Amino acid sequence: MSLPRFDNRFVTELPGDPESGPRRREVAGALWSGVAPTPVPAPQLLAHSAEVAAALGLDAADIADPAFAQVFAGNTLYPGMRPFAANYGGHQFGHWAGQLGDGRAISLGEALGVDGRRHELQLKGAGPTPYSRGADGRAVLRSSIREFLCSEAMHHLGVPTTRALSLVGTGEVVVRDMFYDGDPRPEPGAIVCRVAPSFLRFGSFELPAARGDVALLRQLADFTVRRDFPQLEGQGETLYAEWFGQVCERTAQMVAHWMRVGFVHGVMNTDNMSILGLTIDYGPYGWIDDYDPDWTPNTTDAQGRRYRFGTQPQVAYWNLGRLAQALAPLFAGAAPLQAGLERFREAYVAADRRNTADKLGLAECRDDDLDLLAELRGLMQLGEMDMTLTFRSLIECTPETDTLEPLSAVFYSLDRREEVRARLEQWMRRYATRLREETDSPEQRRERMRRANPRYVLRNYLAQQVIDQAEQGDASGIAELLDVMRRPYDEQPGREAFAQKRPDWARHRAGCSMLSCSS
Ligand code: AMP
Ligand code: MG
Repeated sequence: MSLPRFDNRFVTELPGDPESGPRRREVAGALWSGVAPTPVPAPQLLAHSAEVAAALGLDAADIADPAFAQVFAGNTLYPGMRPFAANYGGHQFGHWAGQLGDGRAISLGEALGVDGRRHELQLKGAGPTPYSRGADGRAVLRSSIREFLCSEAMHHLGVPTTRALSLVGTGEVVVRDMFYDGDPRPEPGAIVCRVAPSFLRFGSFELPAARGDVALLRQLADFTVRRDFPQLEGQGETLYAEWFGQVCERTAQMVAHWMRVGFVHGVMNTDNMSILGLTIDYGPYGWIDDYDPDWTPNTTDAQGRRYRFGTQPQVAYWNLGRLAQALAPLFAGAAPLQAGLERFREAYVAADRRNTADKLGLAECRDDDLDLLAELRGLMQLGEMDMTLTFRSLIECTPETDTLEPLSAVFYSLDRREEVRARLEQWMRRYATRLREETDSPEQRRERMRRANPRYVLRNYLAQQVIDQAEQGDASGIAELLDVMRRPYDEQPGREAFAQKRPDWARHRAGCSMLSCSS
């Protein structure tokens, strides 16, 4: 067995809490607390990602070794691991929430992979930490399956994301009140090992800033630039400005991808925004079925719908504003931070134009094309049309298409289809006219569309079916679904069932259209 080497720079180079262990407390002047995972009774490996394992230098034999399930259940450590929980704060639903920290995540260490890259290994659901507040530090199987699958599905879609190495059942029961309605019930517990070069969040910088601890803020900023943005040059304010600008650009690109594939994060609090521009913290996320920019899967956010699909770019920008505020003490004036925020706008507009062209199969995006897509979005909403299927079906259009024939499978309601029929036919003619102006070959156009419009996404009901099965003791569906999501842009003969629109039974079912933060 060849285990990765751990260099654990975060805990070696940055100040930690003098007290270790899980006693709940406010931790000032420190960015982490040493705390070991709490052992579980019966670890059972339910799924793993072969690609992530390979990047760490772990082969099939290493994964089959009982030590693997023990380590990634938190029962034992590989040599070189140094477990800790990170300290951070955050704005939750628009309000400053103070110290939050890793309440149920415990990082085991920073591994150097076979390619020399950094992979922090972090268990989610590993037991209490100083940051657990009133909660148990555990995670249930359903939310762990969702995090495991979506991390990997997003990666294969080309969306920047944290990854998942393993999913381990703990053999322990966890009690959750799924909809906070006074009906707590025991559920099977599980632990995901998530993997990323860094799990630092906007909130990691907000907490020292809110406490007026500028020295600690500066130490963290310097560390982050050195470790996570080594390609940046310059020093002092210039360097910080370039770094912040990069964070803004990466965040813009991440959100543009979400909008392209129909992903709704669900809880875009600043403690859930990665400093690397990775999608992080898969909780009550969801995928758009029938197109609705006002939809959020998160029942905890049902009133304000702050984190609905259509406002994600604005929310990301607002969150960057909170990060800018936190970093302000490192700057003499606000101009460089303003310039960074402007880079978000520019990067988002550029990515949105590229996505518009690619989704419609056009060589370039003209201003009119933005209207063309906006009109289609409006019709998709009115006509209750499936987002993924609509874009994928447009691949079949030709410059001669003037009927709804290519879109026959995308409607959830025939009444709605008839309501939009005339306008949609008109749109199809407009699109066909636009296609006649293209000089690319039809095959080039179709290929461009195939790469921008996935055929397979992790529809909420697909994940829920696998969860139902796993809760009955059969976890085989997890690997099967993961395998489909490995090639989301390819036609996969025999797997058409995974590309269908949401079935009727799933329309209002918990886990399929409604999720809460209880996980
Ligand atoms: P989230 O909404 O999942 O990002 O969580 C917000 C905060 O609550 C983070 O600080 C989490 O660590 C903490 N948290 C959520 N669930 C639990 C739990 N079961 N035990 C301890 N802390 C938790
Ligand atoms: Mg979180």
